[in-house]
Amino acid sequence: MSSTFSLDPGADQLAVRDWLHGFAADVIRPAAAEWDEREETPWPIIQEAAKLGIYSLDFYAQQYFDPSGVGIPIAMEELFWGDAGIGLSIVGTTLAAVAVLANGTDEQIGTWTPQMFGTPDDVKVAAFCSSEPDAGSDVGALRTRAVYDEAKDEWVLNGTKTWATNGGIAAVHVVVASVDPDLGTRGHASFVVPPGTPGLRQGQKFKKHGIRASHTAEVVLDGVRVPGSCLLGGKEKLDERLARAREGVKRAGGRGNAAMATFEASRPAVGAQAIGIARAAYEVALDYAKTREQFGRPIIDNQGVAFQLADMKTRIDAARLLVWRASWMAVNNQPFTAAEGSMSKLYAGETAKFVTAQAMQILGGNGFTREYPVERMHRDSAIYSIFEGTSEIQRLVIARAISGMPIR
Ligand SMILES: Cc1cc2nc3c(=O)[nH]c(=O)nc-3n(C[C@H](O)[C@H](O)[C@H](O)COP(=O)(O)OP(=O)(O)OC[C@H]3O[C@@H](n4cnc5c(N)ncnc54)[C@H](O)[C@@H]3O)c2cc1C
Repeated sequence: MSSTFSLDPGADQLAVRDWLHGFAADVIRPAAAEWDEREETPWPIIQEAAKLGIYSLDFYAQQYFDPSGVGIPIAMEELFWGDAGIGLSIVGTTLAAVAVLANGTDEQIGTWTPQMFGTPDDVKVAAFCSSEPDAGSDVGALRTRAVYDEAKDEWVLNGTKTWATNGGIAAVHVVVASVDPDLGTRGHASFVVPPGTPGLRQGQKFKKHGIRASHTAEVVLDGVRVPGSCLLGGKEKLDERLARAREGVKRAGGRGNAAMATFEASRPAVGAQAIGIARAAYEVALDYAKTREQFGRPIIDNQGVAFQLADMKTRIDAARLLVWRASWMAVNNQPFTAAEGSMSKLYAGETAKFVTAQAMQILGGNGFTREYPVERMHRDSAIYSIFEGTSEIQRLVIARAISGMPIR
C-alpha cells in the first residue's frame, strides 16, 4: 500500500467536517423526531442543504476527489450523526448519480446528473432501482426486461422494482433491466428513465421500522419507452459486452454487472453512514451514564457500564479505520483483493446495531422511549445489515475474495 495513506484528513477536510457537523447539529438533529413520525421526505431540509451547497453533485464530487481519500466517509458520518432518515433523504440521490457516473458516457453524465438534483429553488431527487420482489440478494434473478425497438431507436421496459429509495417521487430513475435473460447478470444493463416518462408509476410505499423520513417504494414499469440514448454507456458498448458474454469470455478483472459495480463503489460510504448513527448513540449514552445516578453515584462508576462504553467506542473507531481504508483504496484505485469495501460495510453496519442496542440499555427505561433519540437510532441502525448487500452477502463476498473458492 502506498505511503500516502494518512489518518490526518488535512485542514480542508476538517473544515468541511466542522461545517457539516454544524448543519447536522443545528438543522438535521432538531428535525429528526418530527420527520421520523411523519414518515415523509423532508423536502424543506433537502432544500436548505441545496441552498448551502450540501445537496449538489459538485459537493459530492469534491468530497470524492479530495486527495485525503476520506472526504465521502467524513461527510456521510457527520450527516448521519444528525439523523439517518434525513441523512438518507439528502444523499439517496447519489446512488443513482453514481450509477450514471460509473456506467454513463460524458454526454449522459452531463445531461442527467443535474436533473437528479434540480436547483436550490426547485430541488429534485433520483432513485436507483435494482431490487425486485424475487431478486434481492440474488440480483441475477431480476425479471425486468428491456427490449430494443430498432425502428424507433427506443428501449421498452417492463417489470416491477421494489425497495427503491425515492422510487416514484424521483425526477430521474435509473433502472437495471435484463436485455438477455440467458446471460444472467451479464445480460443486465442500466437505463435512465427521464422525468415524466409515461408508464412509470409508484407502487406501494413502505411503512418502515427505521429511516422513516426516507421514502422507500415499489416502482412499476409498464411499457415504459425511453430513447436509445438512455441506455447507460451506449448500444455499441452493450453489444460488445453481450458478444463477449455469449462467447463465454470473462471480462478482465471480472467485476460483474452494472448493478454490482455500483454497489461495490458505494459500500464504504454506506459503512460511514452507520458509523454516524453509532457515534451519535454512543455520545448520548456516555453523557447519560455520567449524569444518571443510581445507588448514590453515576452509573458509569460501575465497571459493567463503563466497559460497555469502552467496547462501543473501540468498535466505532475500528469500523471507521476499515471504512477510511476502503475509501482511500477506492479513490486511489487499489485492488480490493480481500473485498475490503465489503469488510468495511459489514463491520460498520454490525457496529451500528451493537452500539445502538448498548446505548438503549445504558439509558434504561428512557432508552426505550421516543423522548430520547437512541430509540430512533436503534431502529435506524437495523437497515445497515440489510441494504447495499446484507451482512451475509458481505461475508460471502469476503469469503470468496480471500479463498478464491466459489463459496455458496
Ligand atoms: C429501506 C430500504 C432501502 C433500499 N433501497 C434500495 C434502493 O434504493 N435500490 C435498490 O435497488 N434496492 C434497495 N433496497 C433493497 C436492498 O438492497 C435489499 O433489501 C437487500 O439487497 C436484500 O434483499 P431482500 O430484501 O430481497 O432479502 P433476501 O435476498 O431475500 O434475503 C433474506 C435473508 O436471506 C439471506 N440470504 C440470501 N441469500 C443468501 C446467501 N447466498 N447466503 C447467506 N444468506 C443469504 C440474507 O442475508 C437475508 O438475511 C432497499 C431496501 C430497504 C429495506
